[in-house]
Amino acid sequence: MDTTTMTLEEKIRILAESARYDVSCSSSGSSRSNTKGGIGNAASSGICHSWSADGHCVSLLKILLTNICIYDCAYCLNRRSNDIRRVALTPEEVAELTINFYRRNYIEGLFLSTGVVRNPDYTMELLIRTVRTLREEHRFNGYIHLKLVPGADPLLVEQAGRMVDRVSINLELPTRGSLALLAPDKSREAILLPMRQVSGLITARRDQGRNAPPFVPAGQSTQVIIGATPDSDFRIMTISEQLYQRMGLKRVYYSAYVPVAGDPRLPALIATPLLAREHRLYQADWLLRFYGFRADELLDAGSPDLDQELDPKTGWALRHRQLFPVEVNRAEYEVLLRVPGIGVRSAKRIVRARRVQRLRREELAKLGVVMKRARYFLTADGAGSEGTDLSPERLKELLLPGKKRRSDSGQLSLFPPDPRDLSGITGEL
Ligand code: SF4
Repeated sequence: MDTTTMTLEEKIRILAESARYDVSCSSSGSSRSNTKGGIGNAASSGICHSWSADGHCVSLLKILLTNICIYDCAYCLNRRSNDIRRVALTPEEVAELTINFYRRNYIEGLFLSTGVVRNPDYTMELLIRTVRTLREEHRFNGYIHLKLVPGADPLLVEQAGRMVDRVSINLELPTRGSLALLAPDKSREAILLPMRQVSGLITARRDQGRNAPPFVPAGQSTQVIIGATPDSDFRIMTISEQLYQRMGLKRVYYSAYVPVAGDPRLPALIATPLLAREHRLYQADWLLRFYGFRADELLDAGSPDLDQELDPKTGWALRHRQLFPVEVNRAEYEVLLRVPGIGVRSAKRIVRARRVQRLRREELAKLGVVMKRARYFLTADGAGSEGTDLSPERLKELLLPGKKRRSDSGQLSLFPPDPRDLSGITGEL
């Protein structure tokens, strides 16, 4: 289509909308009101948030260089068979836009992705040109998260990694089979190769010491689409565990498949149960990364999917009643972390506080323990939940007070928290 008559603003709106379904930076949908006469539409142009290497939250302009794509991934709005308006920005336009937004204090950085134009190398070169223009011509020193193009030459991957803070390569689907079915132009090898390369270069950079030139200091992340194929939570969590352990990934993001445009290869799905599932996967992921759980402790071949009613840690605790109650004045830090309602912060506070005093139940809430869950799994100075039936069945009822059971449709009738709001799971699981 002829896009020459389209204004820059129109192109930006389309490309930001096209980038919406990529969740490899942490959140999206920020809405910042515009000032009169300023470069408007910060919200509709897509601002997302991510975390820099030193852990502070940065707001990013989230945009595609182009939504033109030679590939035909069934789950993607931009796939070549989908009839949408196609537009492209030049690397210089994206650089200019980023700088303008940055100067107006709308953003602190850029999250840049793209459809695949002509071939992976050509596309990667366009991305590199964008980043180079920003870094060298505009002297932009802010945060850049760049999506790498699977199949691009390793030299281009390395070149890009030297100029940006974070990279991501989307795993997309958990298995080779599902990839072949829904993203036939991509191969598992083409995705894993740059991931391994980036992981190796990050390690090499670390070994070279402080004076070595930087290489993706904020590490790499990936995204897995859930619900588009029958892959189980167990399969997904096992893959995430391997990515964290073997490739040192910073984050795996789970994206509930959104039926953006009917493709016959995709199942007809209702979004709500998938969003609830996405939320549970994020909780399980949190347990892998910060609570010392293994994927095969949370799930197994016999129970391959997470309980949608109970969070995964409480579910685990109910299956291991013999390990409870835990005495908070004696238990090791790692054991405290396994008590539902005790999180990383409260476990640390307990360990610190008990050095100087014996803890009683009344003090635990002040230390951040969520007693409505934890009370059935701990004792404090010997006092626990005496007189309460602590069988797993009764405990499940106690832990879900007033919770409406599943409706006949099989969907949860109590709407879960927004799964993209991670604040709810960074606390005390
Ligand atoms: S490569 Fe696949 S996921 Fe990426 S933009 Fe193209 S169609 Fe979409």
